Amino acid sequence: MAENDERRTELSSLGEFALIHRLTDDFPLHNDSSFRGIGDDCAVIGTGRHKTLVTTQTMAEGVAFDMTFTPLRHLGYKAVTIALSNIAAMNGTPRQVLVSIAVSNRFSLEALEELYAGIRLCCDRYDVDLVGGDTSSSRSGLVITVTAVGEAEEGAITYRSGAHEKDLICVSGDLGSAYSGLLILEREKVTFQADPNFKPQLDEYSYVLERYLKPEPRLDIVERLRQRGIVPTSMIDVSDGLASELLHLCDLSECGCEVYEERLPIDYQTSRVCSEMSKNMLPVSNALNGGEDYELLFTVAQSDYERIKDLEGIHIIGYMTEKGAPAVMVTPQNTTITLRAQGWQANV
Ligand code: ADP
Ligand code: MG
Repeated sequence: MAENDERRTELSSLGEFALIHRLTDDFPLHNDSSFRGIGDDCAVIGTGRHKTLVTTQTMAEGVAFDMTFTPLRHLGYKAVTIALSNIAAMNGTPRQVLVSIAVSNRFSLEALEELYAGIRLCCDRYDVDLVGGDTSSSRSGLVITVTAVGEAEEGAITYRSGAHEKDLICVSGDLGSAYSGLLILEREKVTFQADPNFKPQLDEYSYVLERYLKPEPRLDIVERLRQRGIVPTSMIDVSDGLASELLHLCDLSECGCEVYEERLPIDYQTSRVCSEMSKNMLPVSNALNGGEDYELLFTVAQSDYERIKDLEGIHIIGYMTEKGAPAVMVTPQNTTITLRAQGWQANV
C-alpha cells in the first residue's frame, strides 16, 4: 500500500510504547478465552482456572544482536531465554516454544545448527519443548522470533497492574551488568576493526559478557517465591532497564514509587567497566537504563517482609507510593530524581 506522504508520521517521534498503543488500541477482544490481551509480559488465555500464558519475542540482526561478536549458539540460547523470561514475569511455568527464523544464504547449515544447539541447550535446561516454528528467507540479515507457551493457576498469575501503595519493591540478581558486557564487546569490535591482528583479552570481563551474551530466565526466583508461599502483587522482567519497568508498574498499578540508589544491586564488575569507559559513566545509569538484564522486578505486600527479607538473590529497593505520586529515586545525598524511561526508540 502506498503511504500518503502528507500524513507521514515518523516512527522516531513515537517511541516503542506509544507505537504499540497506537497500533493496537482498536482491537476489542472477541473471545471469552482471551482472558488478558495486550499490555502485560504475556497474554493469558483460557476460560477455566488453569490458564495458558503466551508471549513472543523477536531479535533482528544489527539491532538486537551484532553478528561480529555474538556466537550463534549464544544467540539461540538468549532468544529462548528472553521469551521464557516473560513467562517467569507472570509467575508461570514455561512448557513449549515455537521458533521462527528468517535467514539468507550468508548462513550455512552448520551455522544454523549452532543456533539450534543454543536453542536446544536452553530448552533442555528449563524442560521446555520445541513444538513448531517457521522458516523463511531474508535479504537483510537474520531474524529470530521465539514464541513461548506456559501455564499458571489464575490466582497465582502476577500482572503489572497489581501493586498497591506501601508494597515493597524487589528485584532479583543485579542490574546493569548486561549493558556493561555490551559496552565491552562494542569497544573490542572497534579496536579489532582498526587492527585485525588484535586479540581481545576478555577473561577479566567474563561475568558481564556472560550476562549480555547468555542471560538466564529467572525461573529459579519464581520457584523460590513459590516455596516460601509468596505471590508477588505485581511483576515484570527487566528487559529495557529498571527505570522503564518501574514506570510500567507505576502506570498500570496507578501508584508512584520511591527507590533508593544505594539499594540498587550493582555488581562490582559493572562499576569497574563504567569507570574504565569514562569517568562520567555512572553504574547507576546502566542499572536504570541499560536493559537486557532479564531480572525480575516485583512488589510484595508489607506483610510478606519477614518471608522475603533474607531470600537469596532478592533485594528490596524501595516501596510503592500513593496514586498520583511520581516515580522517583532517592540518592545517598537525599536528592530526589524523577525516573524517566529511555526504552526503545525507532532510530534505525
Ligand atoms: P516485553 O518488554 O515484556 O516484551 P513489550 O513492551 O514488548 O513487552 O510489549 C508490551 C505489550 O504489547 C505486550 O503485551 C505485547 O504482547 C504487546 N505488543 C508488543 N508489540 C506488539 C505488536 N506489534 N502487536 C500487538 N501487540 C504487541
Ligand atoms: Mg517482559
